[in-house]
Order: sequence, then C-alpha cells, then structure tokens
Amino acid sequence: MEQQFDVMGRFAGGAQYIAGELKQGGSGTTHAVVDPATGDEVYSYELAGTADVDAAVSAAAAAFPGWSGATPGERSDAMHRFAAVLTDQAEDFAYAESLQCGKPIKLSREFDVPGSIDNVAFFAGAARHLEGKAAGEYTGDHTSYTRREPIGVVGSIAPWNYPLQMAAWKVLPAIAAGNTIVLKPAELTPLTSLMFAQAATAAGIPDGVVNIVTGAGREAGEHLVGHPSVAMTSFTGSTEVGKRVAEIATRSVKRLHLELGGKAPFLVFDDADLEAAVHGAVAGSLINTGQDCTAATRAYVQRPLFDAFVAGVADLMATVRLGDPFDPATDLGPLISHTQRDRVAGFVDRARGYGARIHTGGEAPGGELAKGAYYRPTLITGAAQDSEIVQREIFGPVLVVLPFDSDDEGIALANDTPFGLAASAWSRDVYRTGRATREIQAGCVWINDHIPILSEMPHGGYKASGFGKDMSTYSFDEYTQVKHVMYDNTAVARKDWHRTVFGDR
Ligand code: NAD
Repeated sequence: MEQQFDVMGRFAGGAQYIAGELKQGGSGTTHAVVDPATGDEVYSYELAGTADVDAAVSAAAAAFPGWSGATPGERSDAMHRFAAVLTDQAEDFAYAESLQCGKPIKLSREFDVPGSIDNVAFFAGAARHLEGKAAGEYTGDHTSYTRREPIGVVGSIAPWNYPLQMAAWKVLPAIAAGNTIVLKPAELTPLTSLMFAQAATAAGIPDGVVNIVTGAGREAGEHLVGHPSVAMTSFTGSTEVGKRVAEIATRSVKRLHLELGGKAPFLVFDDADLEAAVHGAVAGSLINTGQDCTAATRAYVQRPLFDAFVAGVADLMATVRLGDPFDPATDLGPLISHTQRDRVAGFVDRARGYGARIHTGGEAPGGELAKGAYYRPTLITGAAQDSEIVQREIFGPVLVVLPFDSDDEGIALANDTPFGLAASAWSRDVYRTGRATREIQAGCVWINDHIPILSEMPHGGYKASGFGKDMSTYSFDEYTQVKHVMYDNTAVARKDWHRTVFGDR
C-alpha cells in the first residue's frame, strides 16, 4: 500500500492538541512511534509534561460553560458533522492506525474505523435523548424532578491496542453529555487520537472541548488523574495500572470509571456445532493479534469434543497468514512492540517449562518477518487451571484449551480467574446457554459467537475487569450526575413538617 500521508509533516506541530492546536510537549523527553512490522521509527515527539496537562485542563475548563450550555440539538449537529469529517478521512485513519499498531489493514478498514464512525453517529443521536427520570408530586406538597448534568472536565487515559476506538469510546459519551475532555493516549500510539481531535475541530466542535496530551503514564497520566480541576477520571488499561489510578483519583473523591483487563473464557458444551466453535475460537483469540481485552484466551471444551476441537483449531491456526499489515491478504500483524512480543514469548516458554503442550506456534517467525514484532498463532493444552498462562492476561495470539466433564465444572472454571470482562458459551441447547448467560460473571456473554460489539450495547467489566460502561446510553450514567430539584407547591410560610424542629402542630 502506498504511504497515505507524511506522518512527520502532519504532526510537525507536536503530539499535544490543546485548545484546537497541535503543540510540542514540554517534558524534555523525546518518544518515538515505531512501526512494529518493521521496527522503523515513523514519528518522534516530545512527551507532555505536567505544564502541558495543566494547559489542556485549563482549555477544557474554559470550554465547559459554552459546551455544557449548548442545546442537545446543537451538540448533536456538531457530532453529526464530526461523523461526516471522519467518513471523508476514513482511509487516512485506517492507514495511520495500521502504521502505529501493525494492525492488518483489513481490520483497520472494516472494524476500527467504521466502528468508531458508527460510535460518533450513535452519540450524535443519543445526545438528544438525555433525560431526567421521574417528575411528580411525591409528598403531595412539592413537585420533584431530576436533572442530568454533565460533570465538568473529564480526564481520560487510554491503552494502545485500539487507539482510535478507545479515543471514540472515551470522548463521545463525555462530550455528548456536555462535558469537555482531556484524553491521554498511550505513548506508543498517539496518531489517530490526535487526528480524531483535529476532526472534531474541523466539524465545528469548539476549541478546548476535546484536548489530547500524549505523555508518560507516571508523569502526565498521574498528573491528569490527580488534577484538582478534573472532575472525573475514565481509565482503560491494565488492572495493575487501574489500581494505581483508582488510588490517586480517590484522594480527591473523583468520579471514576475503570475498564480493565480481561481473560475471556470460551465454553464449548458437548452439543455445540464443532465447526462453528473452531472458527469462533480462532477468530476470537487472534483478533488484533490477541491484543484485545475481550479476546478468547481460555477455551474449556467438554470432553467428548476436546480432541476434535484441538485438532480443528490447530489446523485452522496454521492457515492464518502473517505478513505486511498493508497487504490486504494479511490476516495477522505483529504485536504492538518487541517488548510485548518478548512478554508473550516468556509466557509460552514458561508454560513449556511446566509441561504444557504447544500444538502450533510457540515461536516468532524467521525470514522477512524477523525484524518485526511477530509471533505465530499459538495453541496450548496441558496447562493447569491455576497456572499463570490460564490465570494472567497475556495479550497475544495465544489460546489455551482445557477439558471439562460436567456443566457445573465448565461454568465454575469459566468463572475461576480474577477477571470478568467477556465470555462466550457454545451449545445448541437453549437451557444450557441460558444457564451460562446467568451464571458466568462477566460484563458480556456471547452465545455461539465471540467478539462482536456494537454502539447500542454497553461494554464494561465485572470483578477485577473494572466498573462502569463504555458505549450505549448506559455510558451516560458515568458521564452525568443526577440532581433532584424540589419545588414547594403550598406557598405556606409555616410548613407542617417544621413542627419536628420547633413548636407543635
Ligand atoms: P497500561 O495499563 O499499561 O496503560 C494504559 C494507559 O495508562 C496508557 O496510556 C499508559 O500511559 C497509562 N498509564 C500507565 N501508568 C500510569 C499511571 N501510573 N498513571 C496513569 N496512567 C498510567 O495498559 P496497556 O498496556 O496500554 O493496554 C493493555 C491493557 O488494557 C490490557 O490490560 C487490556 O486488557 C486493557 N484494555 C481494557 C479494555 C476494556 O475495555 N476493559 C479495552 C482495551 C484494553
């Protein structure tokens, strides 16, 4: 694929977007965006320091009165224009996302970019449907109603696995509800977040409503979370960093939304459509090179189907085409970085060491791909339920398969990690699948599929996968606060209830 645009030129102004302008960071530390397919540097920039975070928060605070005071219709119109700008630039977004992440271009074109545009369109509509719930005379002497109000300046922090979608999930419900935002993307992947904010400006969303600071987690991230003028923290990333973010946010009693790690189970009952389960497992575990918080990571297969499932997955995984992310025929790109590749390889090597069997993969490819952060699709059996490869988040193209006997056992194993983000169950029996949907502790349970996600439905975790919802109108519960307004209807100076404080009836 031809280079779509000159990345260095486009972001020559810097990787901070504050009050509608690109700016250089002031931390004194330079950071490189590297193409993980080649190891080549594609952009270098100065990370945000704390003064950049302060400037972005000030810009967001200055924009808040105007934006929160706009009518829902005005905000909705601006967001419809935003969707149109993104649609015009869809190819540029797909290019930049694949370049910085190593995603196969077909994934960027068919999933990340259209999914994000659909999110904008959804929230453009949803902006007009924010409502208070009840209005009525509950005491007989008063009229009560509720107002849903924006919270103020939102500070959001995002990971590197789906930079554009994460920017969309964080920014859209926040601004649709009338908040303004400062988003910190991951240092490795700032490009599409910056483009997203620029597109908001091009659509006429006022300067300061959407700001980007690209800095290190420890410096810019922690400063943003602790900032006294930031009213809410919304964080997506690992559970470990989420705990630290929660600690800092709690000190100033901030509203907090945490979307954390996952370790999704994939539960195959013995009456499942085997071919569908095999296809679902390969797609569900390898999407985005397994760097997906909802990816299928632990397949539990009822014993009668176990051997056939393992053989089917191994055969299908062997057909997956690793290659240049810009080749439309490439199925699987590299991991985000060589560091992440080595981390994944470490998990697999240690599993070998404790006796697990590697059916396919388990190594980085050689030849042409050796310079990129590639790792072959990997299928593992023979790992114990309490081993780290079953319990911890790997974030790579690795699927572990374990057998189970009774339905009770399968569901118990599915629930047996600290995480609870997503899960799937595979069966033709409506009672079995119904039980799985009720008893699996996860924010999403798919039946006979794994991965699809949509703007209308909420996404968020149970247990150590966090709390709060992205997408859907449920996300407004995170980004708004509810006020009770109560009017006296009697016009009486001495009210009946006053007797509980002074005098008698
Ligand atoms: P990470 O937790 O290392 O980093 C996430 C973000 O936090 C980055 O922007 C990073 O700079 C910042 N950060 C790091 N330390 C910080 C600190 N001390 N204070 C404030 N910010 C800090 O995660 P990652 O490696 O970028 O992404 C992968 C993780 O994200 C996985 O655990 C994955 O499951 C999770 N994730 C979850 C969801 C979800 O919806 N639940 C979606 C995508 C990714």
